[in-house]
Amino acid sequence: SAPRPVPGACFSRARPEPLRRPRVVALSEPALALLGLDAPPAADAAAREAREAEAALFFSGNALLPGAEPAAHCYCGHQFGQFAGQLGDGAAMYLGEVCTEAGERWELQLKGAGPTPFSRQADGRKVLRSSIREFLCSEAMFHLGIPTTRAGSCVSSQSTVVRDAFYDGNPRPEPCAVVLRLAPTFLRFGSFEIFKPRDEHTGRAGPSVGRDDIRLQMLDYVISTFYPEIQASHPGDHVQRHAAFFREVTRRTARLVAEWQCVGFCHGVLNTDNMSIVGLTIDYGPFGFLDRYDPGHVCNASDTAGRYSYGKQPEVCRWNLQKLAEALDPALPLELAEAILAQEFDAEFGRHYLQKMRRKLGLVQTEQEGDGALVAQLLETMHLTGADFTNSFYLLSSFPAAPESPDLDEFLAALTAQCASLEELRLAFRPQMDPRQLAMMLMLAQSNPQLLALIGTRASLARELERVEQQSRLEQLSEAELHSKNRSRWAAWLHDYRARLEKDREASGDVATWQAERTRVMRANNPKYVLRNYIAQGAIEAAENGDFSEVRRVLKLLETPYGGEAEAAEPEGAAEASEVAAETSG
Ligand code: AMP
Ligand code: MG
Ligand code: MG
Repeated sequence: SAPRPVPGACFSRARPEPLRRPRVVALSEPALALLGLDAPPAADAAAREAREAEAALFFSGNALLPGAEPAAHCYCGHQFGQFAGQLGDGAAMYLGEVCTEAGERWELQLKGAGPTPFSRQADGRKVLRSSIREFLCSEAMFHLGIPTTRAGSCVSSQSTVVRDAFYDGNPRPEPCAVVLRLAPTFLRFGSFEIFKPRDEHTGRAGPSVGRDDIRLQMLDYVISTFYPEIQASHPGDHVQRHAAFFREVTRRTARLVAEWQCVGFCHGVLNTDNMSIVGLTIDYGPFGFLDRYDPGHVCNASDTAGRYSYGKQPEVCRWNLQKLAEALDPALPLELAEAILAQEFDAEFGRHYLQKMRRKLGLVQTEQEGDGALVAQLLETMHLTGADFTNSFYLLSSFPAAPESPDLDEFLAALTAQCASLEELRLAFRPQMDPRQLAMMLMLAQSNPQLLALIGTRASLARELERVEQQSRLEQLSEAELHSKNRSRWAAWLHDYRARLEKDREASGDVATWQAERTRVMRANNPKYVLRNYIAQGAIEAAENGDFSEVRRVLKLLETPYGGEAEAAEPEGAAEASEVAAETSG
């Protein structure tokens, strides 16, 4: 079908386009179980094979599930701060909903099943590498306990497309793949932006501008289906109902981004069309988990200004909620929505973030005034010492808390051993601009800040200056000096941490019970396994060579991110698991 604007519509019919010889890369059994599609017993190889063949057929889009009515959703969005007008599902197709015996409803989507009316100049396909990343990370996030869309399957094929993206500058045919995505709904902030009046900067309008009737229908559908308690408590009053709805979306979004921050997850493309209306993580593209802790970390190579850096995610989510508020007006008067946003977002984010961080630090007995500062100093210590975010927290779960503990030296050694080496730091802070270019930028910044802001380089200039400064600091250090500096920085923070733990110990009735609870909570909140880029990359390269076992093995590991069963495996399995543990410890 040809690309076309569809005024007044929220969905357009679409049709999956068959792929050549689809093959299952991996199935997520816990996700498929949500649909009642339980796996045959492991011993029944024939039944398993038949099921994979069926999955390849239906989850590639080569055959339609009975009752499926494929359609693509029309949405708008603000991309990198600009209203982009109509976007829509260019590569994803809605198939329908499965209502389960448990009373749940799951929307099914195929991502990468071919062009839709919203594909614009693109092909509606997804390549194997991006599909494996979305598949693995959706499931990883779920098992970490973070709200997310799910992935039931990843199917590869012998059809190919050429991508010359930012990936590696080496365009070549890559296999097409399809991910089966599941969520209660895939509606986004951008689903409401199709009603947006003409944009004051670009002159663009949403395709359903002025269609207040459709906006009300969509609001009614979302609230009654996904926020039934709000529907019930404000039956008559529309404005009050819409206000309660916006308050709840604000809170969920604030809690979601707090969860991301606490696990070191960078989304990478926080455009309003990638913000779920029910507070899920949605659209796994160039995402990344922090290795070395760096608040300025940008995982999206095309995000040159660092708009979606790790540290900016909370602010950006709030900005996106402001755009949702603008899209809901006049169904919800803008002033009212803005007041709710001001009241709720920062407070809810701060509350949830600190609560989660207390759990990560095992502060289970009391809440103290200085807890926020203790967390901030921990992050500062990680940043200055080039510590690994995931591993630092994981190691802290076995911190010897008793003041007289003799193991402190050993513990400090383990902590500093996972900090970046001098060479790694020098590489990380390598300036990216040519020195002459930098000098010119600096001159421009002094003489004409507006122009600089306009071309969007102010943030990258600041980062470049930080790099130059760090470089000269690192130039003067030897490896031994860096190590001893790191050690004293960690020792200073651990000193404060131990003093803080003392307060909990004193407040606890029974010290043994407190110790056990503290350790339990930390183990349950500090993952051992996250989907690091190079782990995903290893699985992708094997899959591109026809070997799907690594994808399946990583998936299995990510199902118990806090350790647990993976460690209790049989001897062979255990050896494998600890190997990957060493790898993920990077
Ligand atoms: P994203 O940056 O992934 O959120 O996508 C932004 C827009 O581009 C959305 O409208 C997508 O549906 C569309 N899009 C992304 N990839 C493709 C593709 N391969 N073919 C067609 N449209 C796409
Ligand atoms: Mg998207
Ligand atoms: Mg995407």
